[in-house]
Amino acid sequence: MGVSGAVILFRADLRLSDNPALVAAIARGLHAIPLYTWNPDAEGPWRPGAASRCWLHHSLAALKADLKRLGSDLIVRRGPTLEVLREVLAATGARALFWNRRYEPLAAAHDAMVESELRRAGCAVGTFNASLLWEPADVRTRSGTPFQVFTPFYKRVLALDLPGSPLERPASLAPPPRIDSLELDRLELLPRAGWGDGLTRAGQPGEAGAARALTEFLAESVSDYREQRDYPARHGTSRLSPHLHFGEISPRQAWHALAERQAAKGKPAAGAVDDRIVESGPDCFRRELIWREFAHHILHHFPHTPDQPLRSEFAGFPWRDHGGALRAWQRGRTGYPIVDAGMRELWATGWLHNRVRMIVASFLVKHLLIDWREGARWFWDTLVDADLANNTLGWQWSAGCGADAVPYFRIFNPSLQGEKFDPQGEYVQRWLPELALLRPPWIHRPWEAPPAALAAAGVRLGTTYPLPIVEHKAARERALAALKSLRHGSCAAT
Ligand code: FAD
Repeated sequence: MGVSGAVILFRADLRLSDNPALVAAIARGLHAIPLYTWNPDAEGPWRPGAASRCWLHHSLAALKADLKRLGSDLIVRRGPTLEVLREVLAATGARALFWNRRYEPLAAAHDAMVESELRRAGCAVGTFNASLLWEPADVRTRSGTPFQVFTPFYKRVLALDLPGSPLERPASLAPPPRIDSLELDRLELLPRAGWGDGLTRAGQPGEAGAARALTEFLAESVSDYREQRDYPARHGTSRLSPHLHFGEISPRQAWHALAERQAAKGKPAAGAVDDRIVESGPDCFRRELIWREFAHHILHHFPHTPDQPLRSEFAGFPWRDHGGALRAWQRGRTGYPIVDAGMRELWATGWLHNRVRMIVASFLVKHLLIDWREGARWFWDTLVDADLANNTLGWQWSAGCGADAVPYFRIFNPSLQGEKFDPQGEYVQRWLPELALLRPPWIHRPWEAPPAALAAAGVRLGTTYPLPIVEHKAARERALAALKSLRHGSCAAT
Protein backbone atom coordinates (compact mmCIF):
# COMPACT_ATOMS: atom_id res chain seq x y z
CA MET A 1 0.00 0.00 0.00
CA GLY A 2 3.04 2.23 0.25
CA VAL A 3 2.14 3.51 3.72
CA SER A 4 3.99 3.10 6.96
CA GLY A 5 1.29 3.79 9.47
CA ALA A 6 -2.28 2.58 9.99
CA VAL A 7 -4.77 4.10 12.38
CA ILE A 8 -6.61 1.44 14.39
CA LEU A 9 -9.95 2.88 15.44
CA PHE A 10 -11.23 1.18 18.61
CA ARG A 11 -14.96 1.20 19.38
CA ALA A 12 -16.75 -1.94 20.57
CA ASP A 13 -13.56 -4.02 20.51
CA LEU A 14 -11.68 -2.74 23.55
CA ARG A 15 -9.13 -5.55 23.62
CA LEU A 16 -5.75 -6.48 22.15
CA SER A 17 -6.23 -10.23 21.73
CA ASP A 18 -8.40 -11.58 18.93
CA ASN A 19 -8.52 -8.14 17.39
CA PRO A 20 -8.60 -8.54 13.58
CA ALA A 21 -8.12 -4.82 12.83
CA LEU A 22 -4.97 -4.66 14.92
CA VAL A 23 -3.62 -7.94 13.55
CA ALA A 24 -4.31 -6.80 9.96
CA ALA A 25 -2.13 -3.73 10.43
CA ILE A 26 0.68 -5.73 11.99
CA ALA A 27 0.47 -8.45 9.32
CA ARG A 28 0.96 -5.77 6.65
CA GLY A 29 4.03 -4.46 8.41
CA LEU A 30 2.30 -1.19 9.28
CA HIS A 31 2.88 0.92 12.34
CA ALA A 32 -0.34 0.55 14.38
CA ILE A 33 -1.64 3.88 15.72
CA PRO A 34 -4.41 3.17 18.26
CA LEU A 35 -7.18 5.76 18.39
CA TYR A 36 -10.42 6.18 20.29
CA THR A 37 -12.76 9.04 19.53
CA TRP A 38 -15.85 9.76 21.61
CA ASN A 39 -18.60 10.57 19.17
CA PRO A 40 -21.94 9.57 20.69
CA ASP A 41 -23.89 11.62 18.13
CA ALA A 42 -23.24 8.89 15.57
CA GLU A 43 -25.52 6.60 17.55
CA GLY A 44 -28.44 9.05 17.56
CA PRO A 45 -30.97 8.39 20.31
CA TRP A 46 -29.10 5.20 21.28
CA ARG A 47 -25.89 6.89 22.42
CA PRO A 48 -24.46 5.09 25.47
CA GLY A 49 -26.48 5.60 28.65
CA ALA A 50 -25.08 6.78 31.99
CA ALA A 51 -24.11 3.34 33.35
CA SER A 52 -22.54 2.28 30.04
CA ARG A 53 -20.50 5.47 29.90
CA CYS A 54 -19.14 4.75 33.34
CA TRP A 55 -18.08 1.23 32.32
CA LEU A 56 -16.65 2.62 29.09
CA HIS A 57 -14.44 5.07 31.00
CA HIS A 58 -12.86 2.26 33.02
CA SER A 59 -12.61 -0.01 30.01
CA LEU A 60 -10.76 2.66 28.01
CA ALA A 61 -8.42 3.21 30.96
CA ALA A 62 -7.68 -0.53 30.98
CA LEU A 63 -7.09 -0.57 27.21
CA LYS A 64 -4.75 2.41 27.45
CA ALA A 65 -2.76 0.72 30.24
CA ASP A 66 -2.59 -2.53 28.23
CA LEU A 67 -1.35 -0.67 25.16
CA LYS A 68 1.29 1.10 27.25
CA ARG A 69 2.51 -2.23 28.60
CA LEU A 70 3.13 -3.32 25.00
CA GLY A 71 5.03 -0.10 24.23
CA SER A 72 2.18 1.80 22.56
CA ASP A 73 -0.57 4.12 23.80
CA LEU A 74 -4.17 5.08 23.05
CA ILE A 75 -4.71 8.44 21.36
CA VAL A 76 -7.95 9.82 22.77
CA ARG A 77 -10.07 12.42 21.02
CA ARG A 78 -13.66 13.60 21.03
CA GLY A 79 -15.75 14.86 18.13
CA PRO A 80 -17.14 13.76 14.77
CA THR A 81 -15.33 10.62 13.68
CA LEU A 82 -14.68 11.74 10.11
CA GLU A 83 -13.19 15.04 11.22
CA VAL A 84 -11.04 13.41 13.90
CA LEU A 85 -9.82 10.72 11.50
CA ARG A 86 -8.86 13.30 8.89
CA GLU A 87 -6.86 15.19 11.52
CA VAL A 88 -5.16 12.09 12.90
CA LEU A 89 -4.34 10.70 9.46
CA ALA A 90 -2.85 14.06 8.48
CA ALA A 91 -0.95 14.52 11.75
CA THR A 92 0.55 11.02 11.71
CA GLY A 93 1.07 10.68 7.96
CA ALA A 94 -0.80 7.36 8.03
CA ARG A 95 -2.61 6.45 4.81
CA ALA A 96 -4.49 3.41 6.09
CA LEU A 97 -7.26 2.86 8.58
CA PHE A 98 -8.52 -0.36 10.10
CA TRP A 99 -11.52 -0.94 12.34
CA ASN A 100 -13.74 -3.72 13.54
CA ARG A 101 -17.28 -3.32 12.34
CA ARG A 102 -20.26 -2.16 14.39
CA TYR A 103 -23.61 -3.69 13.53
CA GLU A 104 -26.16 -1.36 15.14
CA PRO A 105 -28.07 0.27 12.25
CA LEU A 106 -27.18 3.92 12.92
CA ALA A 107 -23.60 3.18 13.84
CA ALA A 108 -23.18 0.97 10.77
CA ALA A 109 -24.64 3.65 8.46
CA HIS A 110 -22.37 6.27 10.02
CA ASP A 111 -19.33 4.04 9.59
CA ALA A 112 -20.22 3.36 5.95
CA MET A 113 -20.32 7.13 5.34
CA VAL A 114 -16.92 7.63 7.02
CA GLU A 115 -15.43 4.74 5.06
CA SER A 116 -16.60 6.03 1.70
CA GLU A 117 -15.42 9.61 2.42
CA LEU A 118 -11.96 8.44 3.43
CA ARG A 119 -11.61 6.03 0.53
CA ARG A 120 -12.52 8.87 -1.78
CA ALA A 121 -9.69 10.85 -0.21
CA GLY A 122 -7.25 8.02 -1.00
CA CYS A 123 -7.09 6.34 2.40
CA ALA A 124 -7.00 2.54 2.45
CA VAL A 125 -9.75 1.29 4.76
CA GLY A 126 -10.04 -2.26 6.07
CA THR A 127 -12.98 -3.40 8.19
CA PHE A 128 -13.45 -6.70 10.04
CA ASN A 129 -15.94 -8.69 12.04
CA ALA A 130 -14.72 -8.94 15.61
CA SER A 131 -17.91 -9.01 17.63
CA LEU A 132 -20.14 -11.67 16.11
CA LEU A 133 -19.67 -15.35 15.29
CA TRP A 134 -21.54 -15.05 12.00
CA GLU A 135 -22.32 -12.05 9.82
CA PRO A 136 -26.00 -11.22 10.41
CA ALA A 137 -26.59 -10.76 6.68
CA ASP A 138 -25.14 -14.21 5.87
CA VAL A 139 -27.68 -16.20 7.87
CA ARG A 140 -30.88 -16.83 5.93
CA THR A 141 -33.71 -19.32 5.78
CA ARG A 142 -33.86 -21.67 2.77
CA SER A 143 -36.13 -19.18 1.05
CA GLY A 144 -33.60 -16.39 1.62
CA THR A 145 -35.55 -14.51 4.29
CA PRO A 146 -34.27 -13.59 7.75
CA PHE A 147 -35.10 -15.86 10.66
CA GLN A 148 -37.65 -14.75 13.23
CA VAL A 149 -37.67 -17.86 15.39
CA PHE A 150 -34.68 -18.88 17.47
CA THR A 151 -34.52 -22.68 17.15
CA PRO A 152 -34.30 -22.82 13.33
CA PHE A 153 -31.75 -19.98 13.49
CA TYR A 154 -29.76 -21.96 16.05
CA LYS A 155 -29.76 -25.10 13.88
CA ARG A 156 -28.88 -23.11 10.81
CA VAL A 157 -25.82 -21.39 12.28
CA LEU A 158 -24.51 -24.64 13.73
CA ALA A 159 -24.62 -26.07 10.21
CA LEU A 160 -22.54 -23.16 8.88
CA ASP A 161 -18.76 -22.82 9.24
CA LEU A 162 -17.94 -22.77 12.93
CA PRO A 163 -16.00 -19.80 14.28
CA GLY A 164 -12.27 -19.89 13.50
CA SER A 165 -9.62 -19.77 16.24
CA PRO A 166 -9.04 -16.47 18.05
CA LEU A 167 -6.11 -14.35 16.91
CA GLU A 168 -2.98 -13.90 19.01
CA ARG A 169 -2.38 -10.79 21.03
CA PRO A 170 0.69 -8.87 19.72
CA ALA A 171 3.79 -9.24 21.87
CA SER A 172 4.82 -5.61 21.47
CA LEU A 173 3.84 -2.46 19.59
CA ALA A 174 5.73 0.63 18.50
CA PRO A 175 4.83 3.88 20.28
CA PRO A 176 2.35 6.07 18.35
CA PRO A 177 3.55 9.40 16.88
CA ARG A 178 3.35 12.24 19.41
CA ILE A 179 0.12 14.02 18.53
CA ASP A 180 -2.58 15.68 20.65
CA SER A 181 -4.45 13.29 22.88
CA LEU A 182 -6.97 13.99 25.63
CA GLU A 183 -6.91 12.73 29.19
CA LEU A 184 -9.76 10.23 29.55
CA ASP A 185 -11.44 12.47 32.13
CA ARG A 186 -11.98 15.04 29.39
CA LEU A 187 -14.51 12.71 27.78
CA GLU A 188 -16.69 13.26 30.87
CA LEU A 189 -17.97 9.71 30.88
CA LEU A 190 -18.19 9.32 34.65
CA PRO A 191 -21.36 10.41 36.45
CA ARG A 192 -20.98 13.57 38.50
CA ALA A 193 -22.53 12.18 41.68
CA GLY A 194 -21.16 9.12 43.48
CA TRP A 195 -23.63 6.86 41.63
CA GLY A 196 -20.83 5.38 39.50
CA ASP A 197 -19.09 3.85 42.51
CA GLY A 198 -21.28 0.77 42.53
CA LEU A 199 -21.30 0.25 38.80
CA THR A 200 -18.12 -1.71 38.60
CA ARG A 201 -19.47 -4.21 41.13
CA ALA A 202 -20.88 -5.97 38.07
CA GLY A 203 -17.32 -6.92 37.11
CA GLN A 204 -13.88 -5.53 36.38
CA PRO A 205 -13.94 -3.47 33.17
CA GLY A 206 -11.22 -4.29 30.65
CA GLU A 207 -9.69 -7.26 28.90
CA ALA A 208 -8.08 -8.78 32.01
CA GLY A 209 -11.39 -8.61 33.91
CA ALA A 210 -13.18 -10.23 30.97
CA ALA A 211 -10.64 -13.06 30.73
CA ARG A 212 -10.90 -13.65 34.48
CA ALA A 213 -14.71 -13.75 34.35
CA LEU A 214 -14.59 -16.35 31.58
CA THR A 215 -11.92 -18.47 33.27
CA GLU A 216 -13.75 -18.49 36.59
CA PHE A 217 -17.05 -19.29 34.95
CA LEU A 218 -15.60 -22.21 32.98
CA ALA A 219 -13.80 -23.55 36.05
CA GLU A 220 -16.56 -23.10 38.61
CA SER A 221 -20.00 -22.73 37.09
CA VAL A 222 -20.46 -23.87 33.51
CA SER A 223 -21.02 -27.53 34.33
CA ASP A 224 -24.04 -26.59 36.47
CA TYR A 225 -25.09 -23.65 34.28
CA ARG A 226 -28.26 -25.31 33.04
CA GLU A 227 -29.53 -25.97 36.58
CA GLN A 228 -28.21 -22.82 38.27
CA ARG A 229 -28.72 -20.11 35.69
CA ASP A 230 -32.22 -19.18 36.83
CA TYR A 231 -31.42 -18.46 40.49
CA PRO A 232 -30.48 -14.82 40.99
CA ALA A 233 -29.02 -15.29 44.48
CA ARG A 234 -26.38 -17.65 43.08
CA HIS A 235 -23.39 -16.83 40.92
CA GLY A 236 -24.56 -19.28 38.26
CA THR A 237 -24.04 -17.28 35.04
CA SER A 238 -20.93 -15.93 33.38
CA ARG A 239 -21.52 -12.19 33.88
CA LEU A 240 -19.78 -11.69 30.56
CA SER A 241 -22.44 -9.35 29.16
CA PRO A 242 -20.68 -5.98 29.67
CA HIS A 243 -17.39 -7.53 28.56
CA LEU A 244 -18.98 -8.87 25.37
CA HIS A 245 -20.81 -5.63 24.74
CA PHE A 246 -17.66 -3.52 24.90
CA GLY A 247 -15.63 -6.16 23.09
CA GLU A 248 -13.25 -6.72 25.99
CA ILE A 249 -13.60 -10.35 24.99
CA SER A 250 -14.87 -11.75 21.71
CA PRO A 251 -17.62 -14.35 21.43
CA ARG A 252 -15.08 -16.37 19.46
CA GLN A 253 -12.76 -16.44 22.49
CA ALA A 254 -15.62 -17.60 24.70
CA TRP A 255 -16.68 -20.20 22.12
CA HIS A 256 -13.17 -21.64 21.78
CA ALA A 257 -12.38 -21.59 25.50
CA LEU A 258 -15.56 -23.60 25.99
CA ALA A 259 -14.61 -26.03 23.20
CA GLU A 260 -11.13 -26.49 24.71
CA ARG A 261 -12.64 -27.21 28.10
CA GLN A 262 -14.93 -29.77 26.49
CA ALA A 263 -12.04 -31.37 24.61
CA ALA A 264 -9.94 -31.54 27.79
CA LYS A 265 -12.81 -33.41 29.44
CA GLY A 266 -13.12 -35.75 26.46
CA LYS A 267 -16.50 -34.32 25.44
CA PRO A 268 -17.43 -33.71 21.78
CA ALA A 269 -16.57 -30.14 20.79
CA ALA A 270 -18.98 -27.47 19.64
CA GLY A 271 -22.11 -29.59 18.94
CA ALA A 272 -21.77 -28.69 15.26
CA VAL A 273 -24.43 -30.81 13.64
CA ASP A 274 -25.95 -32.02 16.85
CA ASP A 275 -29.48 -30.70 17.00
CA ARG A 276 -30.29 -31.78 20.53
CA ILE A 277 -31.95 -28.88 22.23
CA VAL A 278 -31.87 -30.32 25.74
CA GLU A 279 -28.31 -29.72 26.67
CA SER A 280 -25.54 -29.96 29.21
CA GLY A 281 -24.34 -26.79 30.97
CA PRO A 282 -21.73 -26.02 28.30
CA ASP A 283 -24.22 -26.66 25.47
CA CYS A 284 -26.71 -24.41 27.19
CA PHE A 285 -24.13 -21.64 27.60
CA ARG A 286 -23.18 -21.92 23.94
CA ARG A 287 -26.84 -21.57 23.09
CA GLU A 288 -26.96 -18.26 24.99
CA LEU A 289 -24.04 -17.00 22.93
CA ILE A 290 -26.16 -17.87 19.91
CA TRP A 291 -29.14 -15.96 21.36
CA ARG A 292 -26.81 -12.96 21.22
CA GLU A 293 -26.20 -13.70 17.53
CA PHE A 294 -29.95 -14.02 17.01
CA ALA A 295 -30.51 -10.62 18.64
CA HIS A 296 -28.04 -9.03 16.20
CA HIS A 297 -29.62 -10.90 13.31
CA ILE A 298 -33.03 -9.46 14.19
CA LEU A 299 -31.67 -5.95 14.67
CA HIS A 300 -29.81 -6.09 11.37
CA HIS A 301 -32.77 -7.31 9.35
CA PHE A 302 -35.41 -5.31 11.23
CA PRO A 303 -33.60 -2.06 12.05
CA HIS A 304 -36.78 -0.33 13.20
CA THR A 305 -37.22 -2.67 16.19
CA PRO A 306 -35.53 -0.53 18.90
CA ASP A 307 -38.45 1.87 18.45
CA GLN A 308 -41.25 -0.17 16.89
CA PRO A 309 -42.64 -3.64 17.62
CA LEU A 310 -41.56 -6.37 15.23
CA ARG A 311 -45.14 -7.63 15.20
CA SER A 312 -46.82 -4.62 13.70
CA GLU A 313 -50.25 -5.35 15.23
CA PHE A 314 -48.76 -4.30 18.58
CA ALA A 315 -48.35 -0.75 17.28
CA GLY A 316 -51.95 -0.18 18.39
CA PHE A 317 -51.57 -1.68 21.87
CA PRO A 318 -53.43 0.41 24.51
CA TRP A 319 -50.45 1.20 26.77
CA ARG A 320 -51.15 3.30 29.85
CA ASP A 321 -49.40 6.57 30.44
CA HIS A 322 -48.83 6.35 34.17
CA GLY A 323 -45.84 8.30 35.43
CA GLY A 324 -46.40 7.37 39.09
CA ALA A 325 -46.38 3.63 38.39
CA LEU A 326 -43.35 3.96 36.13
CA ARG A 327 -41.44 5.79 38.87
CA ALA A 328 -42.43 3.18 41.47
CA TRP A 329 -41.06 0.48 39.15
CA GLN A 330 -37.85 2.39 38.46
CA ARG A 331 -37.23 2.96 42.16
CA GLY A 332 -38.09 -0.55 43.29
CA ARG A 333 -41.23 0.54 45.18
CA THR A 334 -43.94 -1.63 43.58
CA GLY A 335 -44.66 -3.72 46.69
CA TYR A 336 -43.63 -6.94 44.90
CA PRO A 337 -40.34 -7.95 46.54
CA ILE A 338 -38.72 -9.83 43.64
CA VAL A 339 -39.47 -6.91 41.29
CA ASP A 340 -38.23 -4.31 43.76
CA ALA A 341 -35.08 -6.28 44.62
CA GLY A 342 -34.27 -6.48 40.91
CA MET A 343 -34.80 -2.80 40.27
CA ARG A 344 -32.66 -1.88 43.27
CA GLU A 345 -29.87 -4.23 42.18
CA LEU A 346 -30.00 -2.65 38.73
CA TRP A 347 -29.68 0.86 40.17
CA ALA A 348 -26.92 -0.11 42.60
CA THR A 349 -24.74 -2.23 40.30
CA GLY A 350 -25.77 -1.62 36.68
CA TRP A 351 -26.36 -5.32 36.17
CA LEU A 352 -29.32 -7.62 36.56
CA HIS A 353 -29.77 -11.36 36.41
CA ASN A 354 -31.58 -12.64 33.30
CA ARG A 355 -34.45 -14.25 35.24
CA VAL A 356 -35.04 -11.01 37.11
CA ARG A 357 -34.83 -8.97 33.87
CA MET A 358 -37.68 -11.13 32.58
CA ILE A 359 -39.71 -10.72 35.79
CA VAL A 360 -39.35 -6.93 36.03
CA ALA A 361 -39.98 -6.47 32.31
CA SER A 362 -43.11 -8.61 32.42
CA PHE A 363 -44.34 -6.68 35.46
CA LEU A 364 -43.93 -3.33 33.71
CA VAL A 365 -45.64 -4.29 30.47
CA LYS A 366 -48.32 -6.61 31.80
CA HIS A 367 -49.11 -5.66 35.41
CA LEU A 368 -48.64 -1.94 34.85
CA LEU A 369 -49.51 -1.88 31.12
CA ILE A 370 -46.64 0.53 30.54
CA ASP A 371 -45.07 0.61 27.09
CA TRP A 372 -42.03 -1.70 26.75
CA ARG A 373 -40.10 1.25 25.27
CA GLU A 374 -40.20 3.01 28.66
CA GLY A 375 -38.60 -0.05 30.20
CA ALA A 376 -36.04 -0.41 27.41
CA ARG A 377 -35.06 3.25 27.89
CA TRP A 378 -34.63 2.83 31.63
CA PHE A 379 -32.49 -0.27 31.12
CA TRP A 380 -30.55 1.61 28.48
CA ASP A 381 -29.54 4.27 30.98
CA THR A 382 -28.94 2.01 33.97
CA LEU A 383 -27.36 -1.19 32.59
CA VAL A 384 -23.60 -1.39 32.19
CA ASP A 385 -24.22 -4.02 29.50
CA ALA A 386 -26.92 -1.99 27.68
CA ASP A 387 -26.82 -3.43 24.19
CA LEU A 388 -29.16 -2.34 21.43
CA ALA A 389 -29.59 -5.84 19.96
CA ASN A 390 -30.00 -7.75 23.23
CA ASN A 391 -32.04 -5.09 25.01
CA THR A 392 -34.46 -4.72 22.11
CA LEU A 393 -34.88 -8.46 21.77
CA GLY A 394 -35.33 -8.88 25.55
CA TRP A 395 -37.97 -6.17 25.83
CA GLN A 396 -39.90 -7.18 22.75
CA TRP A 397 -39.73 -10.79 23.91
CA SER A 398 -41.14 -9.79 27.29
CA ALA A 399 -43.86 -7.64 25.76
CA GLY A 400 -44.88 -10.41 23.36
CA CYS A 401 -44.39 -8.20 20.32
CA GLY A 402 -40.98 -9.40 19.13
CA ALA A 403 -39.16 -12.35 17.61
CA ASP A 404 -39.94 -15.74 19.13
CA ALA A 405 -41.59 -13.83 21.97
CA VAL A 406 -43.38 -15.12 25.03
CA PRO A 407 -47.12 -14.99 24.17
CA TYR A 408 -48.66 -11.85 25.65
CA PHE A 409 -51.28 -13.88 27.50
CA ARG A 410 -48.57 -15.68 29.50
CA ILE A 411 -48.30 -13.42 32.51
CA PHE A 412 -45.71 -14.09 35.22
CA ASN A 413 -47.04 -14.09 38.76
CA PRO A 414 -44.21 -12.21 40.53
CA SER A 415 -44.78 -13.89 43.90
CA LEU A 416 -44.66 -17.38 42.38
CA GLN A 417 -41.58 -16.43 40.34
CA GLY A 418 -39.94 -15.27 43.57
CA GLU A 419 -40.86 -18.46 45.41
CA LYS A 420 -39.61 -20.62 42.56
CA PHE A 421 -36.34 -18.88 41.78
CA ASP A 422 -35.49 -17.36 45.16
CA PRO A 423 -36.93 -20.05 47.44
CA GLN A 424 -35.11 -18.95 50.60
CA GLY A 425 -35.64 -15.26 49.85
CA GLU A 426 -31.87 -14.62 49.88
CA TYR A 427 -31.94 -12.41 46.79
CA VAL A 428 -34.75 -10.27 48.18
CA GLN A 429 -33.04 -10.02 51.56
CA ARG A 430 -29.84 -8.85 49.86
CA TRP A 431 -31.47 -5.96 48.03
CA LEU A 432 -34.39 -5.06 50.29
CA PRO A 433 -32.91 -4.59 53.77
CA GLU A 434 -36.33 -3.52 55.05
CA LEU A 435 -37.56 -7.10 54.44
CA ALA A 436 -34.37 -8.84 55.54
CA LEU A 437 -35.94 -10.43 58.61
CA LEU A 438 -39.03 -11.71 56.81
CA ARG A 439 -38.98 -15.45 56.03
CA PRO A 440 -40.49 -17.48 53.18
CA PRO A 441 -43.23 -17.63 52.13
CA TRP A 442 -44.01 -14.10 53.38
CA ILE A 443 -40.88 -12.57 51.96
CA HIS A 444 -42.40 -12.92 48.49
CA ARG A 445 -45.94 -11.91 49.56
CA PRO A 446 -45.63 -9.64 52.61
CA TRP A 447 -49.19 -8.35 52.21
CA GLU A 448 -50.44 -11.85 53.14
CA ALA A 449 -48.15 -12.22 56.15
CA PRO A 450 -49.79 -12.52 59.60
CA PRO A 451 -49.42 -9.30 61.63
CA ALA A 452 -47.19 -11.12 64.13
CA ALA A 453 -44.74 -12.18 61.38
CA LEU A 454 -44.58 -8.61 60.07
CA ALA A 455 -44.10 -7.18 63.55
CA ALA A 456 -41.35 -9.69 64.36
CA ALA A 457 -39.55 -8.69 61.15
CA GLY A 458 -40.02 -4.98 61.84
CA VAL A 459 -42.08 -4.50 58.67
CA ARG A 460 -44.87 -1.92 58.61
CA LEU A 461 -46.58 -2.24 55.24
CA GLY A 462 -47.31 1.08 53.63
CA THR A 463 -44.60 2.68 55.82
CA THR A 464 -41.34 0.72 55.79
CA TYR A 465 -42.26 -1.17 52.60
CA PRO A 466 -45.04 -0.37 50.10
CA LEU A 467 -48.26 -2.27 49.67
CA PRO A 468 -48.59 -3.72 46.12
CA ILE A 469 -49.31 -0.94 43.63
CA VAL A 470 -51.56 -3.33 41.69
CA GLU A 471 -53.30 -6.51 42.71
CA HIS A 472 -52.02 -9.47 40.68
CA LYS A 473 -55.36 -10.99 39.66
CA ALA A 474 -56.90 -7.66 38.66
CA ALA A 475 -53.75 -6.64 36.77
CA ARG A 476 -53.76 -9.95 34.95
CA GLU A 477 -57.35 -9.51 33.85
CA ARG A 478 -56.69 -5.95 32.75
CA ALA A 479 -53.73 -7.09 30.65
CA LEU A 480 -55.75 -9.85 29.02
CA ALA A 481 -58.54 -7.38 28.25
CA ALA A 482 -56.00 -5.05 26.64
CA LEU A 483 -54.76 -7.91 24.47
CA LYS A 484 -58.31 -8.77 23.53
CA SER A 485 -59.00 -5.18 22.50
CA LEU A 486 -55.98 -5.43 20.22
CA ARG A 487 -57.33 -8.61 18.70
CA HIS A 488 -60.64 -6.94 17.99
CA GLY A 489 -58.95 -3.82 16.68
CA SER A 490 -58.30 -3.01 13.06
CA CYS A 491 -55.08 -5.10 12.85
CA ALA A 492 -55.88 -8.49 14.34
CA ALA A 493 -53.07 -10.16 16.27
CA THR A 494 -51.93 -13.47 14.88
P1 FAD B 1 -25.01 -15.71 30.60
O1 FAD B 1 -26.22 -16.46 31.00
O2 FAD B 1 -23.73 -16.14 31.18
O3 FAD B 1 -24.95 -15.74 29.01
C1 FAD B 1 -23.73 -15.52 28.29
C2 FAD B 1 -23.93 -14.42 27.26
O4 FAD B 1 -24.91 -14.81 26.32
C3 FAD B 1 -24.42 -13.11 27.84
O5 FAD B 1 -23.36 -12.35 28.37
C4 FAD B 1 -25.06 -12.46 26.64
O6 FAD B 1 -24.12 -11.82 25.80
C5 FAD B 1 -25.64 -13.65 25.90
N1 FAD B 1 -27.04 -13.82 26.29
C6 FAD B 1 -27.53 -14.48 27.36
N2 FAD B 1 -28.88 -14.42 27.37
C7 FAD B 1 -29.23 -13.71 26.29
C8 FAD B 1 -30.48 -13.30 25.75
N3 FAD B 1 -31.64 -13.64 26.32
N4 FAD B 1 -30.48 -12.56 24.62
C9 FAD B 1 -29.33 -12.23 24.01
N5 FAD B 1 -28.11 -12.59 24.47
C10 FAD B 1 -28.07 -13.31 25.60
N6 FAD B 1 -28.30 -8.57 27.51
C11 FAD B 1 -27.34 -7.66 27.23
O7 FAD B 1 -26.18 -8.06 27.02
N7 FAD B 1 -27.63 -6.33 27.18
C12 FAD B 1 -28.89 -5.85 27.40
O8 FAD B 1 -29.12 -4.65 27.30
C13 FAD B 1 -29.91 -6.78 27.73
N8 FAD B 1 -31.17 -6.36 28.02
C14 FAD B 1 -32.14 -7.29 28.33
C15 FAD B 1 -33.45 -6.85 28.61
C16 FAD B 1 -34.44 -7.74 28.93
C17 FAD B 1 -35.84 -7.25 29.23
C18 FAD B 1 -34.15 -9.13 28.99
C19 FAD B 1 -35.22 -10.12 29.35
C20 FAD B 1 -32.87 -9.59 28.70
C21 FAD B 1 -31.85 -8.68 28.37
N9 FAD B 1 -30.53 -9.12 28.07
C22 FAD B 1 -29.56 -8.19 27.77
C23 FAD B 1 -30.20 -10.56 27.94
C24 FAD B 1 -29.68 -11.25 29.22
O9 FAD B 1 -30.52 -10.96 30.30
C25 FAD B 1 -28.25 -10.85 29.58
O10 FAD B 1 -27.41 -10.99 28.45
C26 FAD B 1 -27.69 -11.76 30.68
O11 FAD B 1 -28.49 -11.69 31.83
C27 FAD B 1 -26.28 -11.32 31.01
O12 FAD B 1 -25.76 -12.08 32.06
P2 FAD B 1 -24.59 -13.11 31.81
O13 FAD B 1 -23.51 -12.46 31.03
O14 FAD B 1 -24.24 -13.69 33.14
O15 FAD B 1 -25.32 -14.18 30.90
